[in-house]
Amino acid sequence: MKYPRFALDHNNLELLAQLQKTFDIEFEEKNIDYCEVFSKNNCSIIYYNPARIDNDSIAHELLHIWLSTFQYASGNTLYLLSLNDENLSKIFNKNLCAYIGNCMDHIKMYPRYISLGYNPEKFVTLGTREKSNINDLTNLDLKVSATIYRSNAIELYIGNLTSIYADHYPNNYSKHLKLLEDMEPDLFKKTMTFWTNWKEFDIEKIDPIFYSDRAIINNYLMEMEAWLSNKHVI
Ligand SMILES: [Zn+2]
Repeated sequence: MKYPRFALDHNNLELLAQLQKTFDIEFEEKNIDYCEVFSKNNCSIIYYNPARIDNDSIAHELLHIWLSTFQYASGNTLYLLSLNDENLSKIFNKNLCAYIGNCMDHIKMYPRYISLGYNPEKFVTLGTREKSNINDLTNLDLKVSATIYRSNAIELYIGNLTSIYADHYPNNYSKHLKLLEDMEPDLFKKTMTFWTNWKEFDIEKIDPIFYSDRAIINNYLMEMEAWLSNKHVI
């Protein structure tokens, strides 16, 4: 165990001590703007910049490690289950799935982050800023024709809706949401249902048969498959 070169506060020390019962956690200095965690099996390395570090960012990374104890299906599952489908694999690529997985974590860790007394503004970089830009959405061009859709535009659509849904800060997205819903009502509904199901899902009660995290992802992909069945994605 290597401790970082700055003082962890009481809450972080307690969280770290709790996690160390299961994980081997190390801190490593790196020239980055933010803090990040890399985990494999039960080993985690938290990378941080000693010039920019604060306890809020460390708490954020420790909570990512805490969430890995629940082993729920996440972005990687979404990616793997889409791989063999011609249309789905064009949309749910590695980038989008990693982003969705990160947001799935953020929704689940935020309540604990706040209960530990950390700052909402520091939960992510530029934490209060709008997570979706209305001009980007206005310029979103989903279709080439009635049945031919652009995969990169669908990816942006889902990415933006995910950003909005996962935003911990109470920004007003009513215009963004109206625009997205009017643009493609079915895609909107299916993606919002996925997020609502995930938000309501209690990760502490996972049961592979009776209370399944995988079912939420499976349902979303089945819905997406149905939506795409009469479309061609390029
Ligand atoms: Zn994070």
